[in-house]
Amino acid sequence: MSVRVRFAPSPTGPFSLGNARTALFNWLFARHEGGTFLLRIEDTDKERSKKEYEKILLDGLKWLGFEWDEEPWRQSERLPVYKKYLERLLEEGKAYYCFCTPEELDAERQALLSQGMPPKYGGRCRAIPVAEAKERLKKETAVIRFRTPEKEVAFTDMVRGRVAFDLGLIGDIVIAKDLESPLYNFAVVVDDYEMNITHVIRGEDHLSNTPKQIAIAEALGIEPPHYAHLPLILGPDHKKLSKRYLETSLLDYRDQGYLKEAVLNFMVLMGWHPAEDREVLSVEEMLKEFDFKRVAKSGAVFNPEKLDWLNAHYIKNSPPEKLAEAAAPFLPEAWRKDEAFLAKVLGTERERAKRLSDFKDLAGFFFELPDYEARKLVWRETPAAAILDNLRFTLDVLAKIPPAAGKETVENYLMTVAEKRGSGEVLWPLRVALSGQDASPGPADIIAALGPEESVRRIQVAIAKLGTLIG
Ligand code: GLU
Repeated sequence: MSVRVRFAPSPTGPFSLGNARTALFNWLFARHEGGTFLLRIEDTDKERSKKEYEKILLDGLKWLGFEWDEEPWRQSERLPVYKKYLERLLEEGKAYYCFCTPEELDAERQALLSQGMPPKYGGRCRAIPVAEAKERLKKETAVIRFRTPEKEVAFTDMVRGRVAFDLGLIGDIVIAKDLESPLYNFAVVVDDYEMNITHVIRGEDHLSNTPKQIAIAEALGIEPPHYAHLPLILGPDHKKLSKRYLETSLLDYRDQGYLKEAVLNFMVLMGWHPAEDREVLSVEEMLKEFDFKRVAKSGAVFNPEKLDWLNAHYIKNSPPEKLAEAAAPFLPEAWRKDEAFLAKVLGTERERAKRLSDFKDLAGFFFELPDYEARKLVWRETPAAAILDNLRFTLDVLAKIPPAAGKETVENYLMTVAEKRGSGEVLWPLRVALSGQDASPGPADIIAALGPEESVRRIQVAIAKLGTLIG
């Protein structure tokens, strides 16, 4: 049977990177295997599920490029389906109505805990016949419990190998609040079956749910899918990941200027590694190489420095036109009028940017020469008159450069001047003249992006400023 997987988020909070990693691994596996990737919104928790969170999920998936196959499923639209299966379990005596009040259950829990026993349900309502329960339901409320078999359940996890659980420790779990309100463990089993899911890929936090789901599947006569539990994501210190990162939503990373290529690369390394432990991987490479053999049981580390490093790497290596498109939301409207110029500017600045949002500060001088103090043009102890002379000489040399010359040609010309008159003495004032700053890309890069006309104008401004120093 061909592979069918699902990403099944609950829209009860922001879309975290941890959750996005689950989506990524499902998507990679589906695409690698030529299978189907489904999206299922698990919104049975009516109080906590919100439409706005659902929208954030869809936006995040689209941003990352995880297009899903078939229409997304929504559990809240499938209540009659779950009801049918619940009724079947009730009729077959594999589930029963439980009338215990929260107070009674709490007292039972406390009593067990104080004796050092696992706090499982004692089974008081187990023996109530369905007919009697239905009668009582006219006046009382009840939940539906699954008659959990007291036995060991074992399965082969694609990441962890054989995993076994003693169901005897769990007791009869609540699978629905009523016939119209199924709970997670029940709805998942029904859906995975009805949607022909072959592989369930999810975080390790769900590992303890798996034996419950297998037991429910068995009670319904369903063959459970294969399971893969992705390693828990830990902080850089290999301890529990701090709340700050757990709660940062995927779209916050987008809005802070991370490229999706960097985020994808970062996420895939949280639990999987390619051959030769390469760290930089394009999506094409991930799709080609992904397999569960290289998913680790532990050690998925969330290292924000690595994300920054990857982001700088992808910015540095992005084609300027693509960069201009990705950076557009972070830039002033006016910069976007001349796209070719913008691409040239970002191509010149991409070495220095760590985030797309950095361009706004780094590249402003290309669009408008900032005002600066005349003193800034002076290199160390060099007399202002010598600096002035150097700038004039540079201007003469630049006048000889063909107008469409590229960076290398400009650089060669400038080097000859620098060799004759000293590199600090020539290149420092030129940098300041062109950018108004003391940190910038090299003068030749700036000239190549600004073009000869604007470069000459800026040098003339500097010459005028120096004139005021000399008096
Ligand atoms: N809805 C569950 C969650 O968001 C996922 C369930 C699953 O993958 O089985 O954690």
